[in-house]
Amino acid sequence: MEEPEQTAAHIAAAGSADFGSEVHGDTTADRWAGGDYGFETLAIHAGQDPDPTTGAVVVPIYQTSTYVQSEVGRHKGYEYSRSGNPTRTALETCLAALEGGRTGLAFASGLAAEDCLLRTVTSPGGHVVIPDDAYGGTYRLFAKVLERWGVSHTPVALSDLDAVRAAVRPETSLIWCETPTNPLLGIADIAGLASIAHDAGARLAVDNTFASPYLQQPLALGADVVVHSTTKYLGGHSDVVGGALISTDAVLGEELAYHQNAMGGVPGAFDSWLVLRGAKTLGVRMDRHCANAAAVVELLLASPKVAQVLYPGLPDHPGHGVAAKQMSGFGGMVSFRLAGGEAAALEVCRSTTVFTLGESLGGVESLIEHPARMTHASVAGSQLEVPADLVRLSVGIETAGDLLADLERALGRLPA
Ligand SMILES: *Cc1c(COP(=O)(O)O)cnc(C)c1O
Repeated sequence: MEEPEQTAAHIAAAGSADFGSEVHGDTTADRWAGGDYGFETLAIHAGQDPDPTTGAVVVPIYQTSTYVQSEVGRHKGYEYSRSGNPTRTALETCLAALEGGRTGLAFASGLAAEDCLLRTVTSPGGHVVIPDDAYGGTYRLFAKVLERWGVSHTPVALSDLDAVRAAVRPETSLIWCETPTNPLLGIADIAGLASIAHDAGARLAVDNTFASPYLQQPLALGADVVVHSTTKYLGGHSDVVGGALISTDAVLGEELAYHQNAMGGVPGAFDSWLVLRGAKTLGVRMDRHCANAAAVVELLLASPKVAQVLYPGLPDHPGHGVAAKQMSGFGGMVSFRLAGGEAAALEVCRSTTVFTLGESLGGVESLIEHPARMTHASVAGSQLEVPADLVRLSVGIETAGDLLADLERALGRLPA
């Protein structure tokens, strides 16, 4: 039987049979890579050439665990779907292109991606600097899992570069950055953190979930690796859980790809396909998320029931200058504190009808939640504890007027 021709992208991404799975992540040879195309073009085309066997324009869901070998060790670049799967390769190539990285790796969840990164770049006796405001699950991974394996951590306000410099120790191998932070929307200077990390012989990882690569590209600012929960803006439709790591350094990329295969927290073909489909529209969705969030911020600022609005787009936000420099928009996440305290926060969460009460973020639908009792319950009592009067919004892409009316009504129910 005539063997169907492979595209250059497939061959490059899959690597030679000799080298094995470590090179699945090297996505630099994709014909869309190399800086000639804009973001939206890459989102729709990078890693997504028409299928070489059928001409299908959309990358097929290769729902297979294994691949034929014509003789022992001779195959088309894929041996077993933990090590590599063509649908996943398409996603990984696309994600690498969107972040301007060399290696893209997809995972079954954001936390699986974080776990792979942390077990690749830390060892017992090591130390990491972490934010004093971060996704609760990230903190839990450091505090409840890594700590037991002998990796210690120091929470620091990453907006204070002197404090970060002081927290770095000889055994520090990693600075972990989240910007904007979840849920307090703090901003850290990525370029500043990269130079502190590199002066200390450490690496900088940036969790870019809140901004998405459309609004912020940490690798270009000096970060060594970008982390995503693709569950959020990249997937964008609240229908899949996934994660990703993207790096520029070829050596680190190979180490991460090795661990991805060795540890096995990979996404299935259908989940890879869902994230890839979501990523195609990331640009237009983010534009609308930003515009709707700005309108929501205006409404909240005008309400006497709201004590404080946390949004990096506000000129009086302490990180506004840095955010304006390193982001091309301020994003769709808005947090605010209620003058009426926790009871008022819970009442607002109960009262909205267009904003759905639920965890997660980054989907087309607007969500509202109470971090202290929901997403961030795991940081209670720690240095990362969040205020009880805080409400977090993931502003979706519904009709702006409907979102404003919904919040206005919910705030109106609170006692004056
Ligand atoms: C959701 C989230 C994660 C964890 O990702 P999962 O896909 O839920 O495992 C990590 N970081 C941030 C900022 C998140 O919002």
